[in-house]
Amino acid sequence: MNESLIQRIKDCPTLPSLPSIAIQVLDLAQKEEADIAEIARVISKDPALSSKILRTVNSSFYGRSQSISTISHALVILGLQSVKTLVLGFSLVSTLSKTRAKGFKHLTYWRRSIFGATAARMIAGKVGLVQQEECFLSALMMDIGMLVLDQVVGEPYGALNDKAESHDDLIQIERDAQDMTHADVAGLLAAQWKLPPLLAEPMAHHHDPGVIIDLSLRRVAEVVRLASACADVFVDENAARAIATVRKFSAERFGLSDADCDKLLEDIGTRTREVAPLFEINIGPATNYEAILKKANEALVEQTLRMQQQTTTLVEQNQQLKVQATTDGLTGLANRASLEAFLAEKFASASADGKGLAVLMMDVDKFKSINDTHGHPVGDQVLKFIGKLVRTAARAQDLAARYGGEEMVLVLPGTARNTAAAIAETIRRALAARPVTAGAKTLNVTASIGVAACEPAGLFREAGQLMKAADMAVYAAKHAGRNCVRVFSAPKAKVA
Ligand code: GH3
Ligand code: MG
Ligand code: MG
Repeated sequence: MNESLIQRIKDCPTLPSLPSIAIQVLDLAQKEEADIAEIARVISKDPALSSKILRTVNSSFYGRSQSISTISHALVILGLQSVKTLVLGFSLVSTLSKTRAKGFKHLTYWRRSIFGATAARMIAGKVGLVQQEECFLSALMMDIGMLVLDQVVGEPYGALNDKAESHDDLIQIERDAQDMTHADVAGLLAAQWKLPPLLAEPMAHHHDPGVIIDLSLRRVAEVVRLASACADVFVDENAARAIATVRKFSAERFGLSDADCDKLLEDIGTRTREVAPLFEINIGPATNYEAILKKANEALVEQTLRMQQQTTTLVEQNQQLKVQATTDGLTGLANRASLEAFLAEKFASASADGKGLAVLMMDVDKFKSINDTHGHPVGDQVLKFIGKLVRTAARAQDLAARYGGEEMVLVLPGTARNTAAAIAETIRRALAARPVTAGAKTLNVTASIGVAACEPAGLFREAGQLMKAADMAVYAAKHAGRNCVRVFSAPKAKVA
């Protein structure tokens, strides 16, 4: 963690403090024999607070049929824990909402808090957790670190908030920028306020509840984590993303179905609409989950379409890359690597079924002098022309490849030596028969061709030997005066 930032936080004069009435009630409630009458008296001294508490306990949030008219009555009916929560919640909100924002949007902050707090209480109820009040309070205060950072860091912290596309993004952005998150700061503040672990731990770990070792504390923190995501659904611009997070986390940690989540979110929207005015928080119009879901679904459909489009482009790019990786750029024939792969495969099956395999290797005659006389680009045109000739000669089962420089190879699976030799002769003759047009020039070009075949079967142990034999045959053709075909024959030559 960022030690200098911690020091600045500790030294900050405008740091939020726990309201005195909250401190008094917490102190009284912590005593072994809590004096209910004394607590009621302390709360009643603040008429604004008392009236807010009474309005709340009589709202549908608590779902009481019986009307409650005094604080002591509320303490008896609802219990100390609930009333304590309301004292803390109301006094905190009214104190904190008076702090002046330096760089970030307070309205969004308070909307998140109240949606989160309501959500946490409702989730706790739904998953059968007894600590509903603690869930409410820790969720109400989970982002308090943002208020602190706003006070301490000011404008630059506002800029971090603007950069974050969602509340979950913010955590990573804070970590990268200042090595301290608003959750870390909430933990610091909770320690300073001496809040019990049941509030402090979920506040400090509302983005990473998994790190809490104590299982019951972790459960509360998980509820708060989920509540935070639920709040995002109502506050974030991109509700689709938040809804997906809620569904994923609910399913993983609480075994809730998508339908359960939808019902929960709908209820959270309704309840928060009732609770927010009691806390004097303006939550704006976006509280109808059905409308949010509809909009999110539309965004989701659009997103899916966009993703499909991107996938199609990617598939096309992949195909292009695959072609580039296997093809020779100049002639469009298979390149050396794919030639070798094809040959190895055909050699293996020829060895297995004995149906034969032949290779034809062609080397352009005196090609260097073509380059020297007419220039490299003309040489290229000639190679392209010869490439086309070899490709035309290839049958469906054959592979035409550029072996390198001015050498082309035709692999002829299932082909006997004589047939291969006849094909070679056809190619040689076709090339020699008419001049090649290269740009403005017409040139007489010839080639020498060597042929080798796996005949008799088992003559070669590996594909490389077959190629070597074809190469030797080319050499023999050159030696014989060029522009001719020579066929490798085993008895006359020895393969290395
Ligand atoms: P030989 O009849 O004995 O085969 O003579 P050659 O001149 O064809 O043989 P050599 O191997 O001496 O020369 C081959 C030439 O092919 C040399 C090289 O510059 C040229 N070459 C190799 N790749 C390309 C290419 O992509 N484009 C062009 N234009 N020339 C190339
Ligand atoms: Mg050569
Ligand atoms: Mg040559």
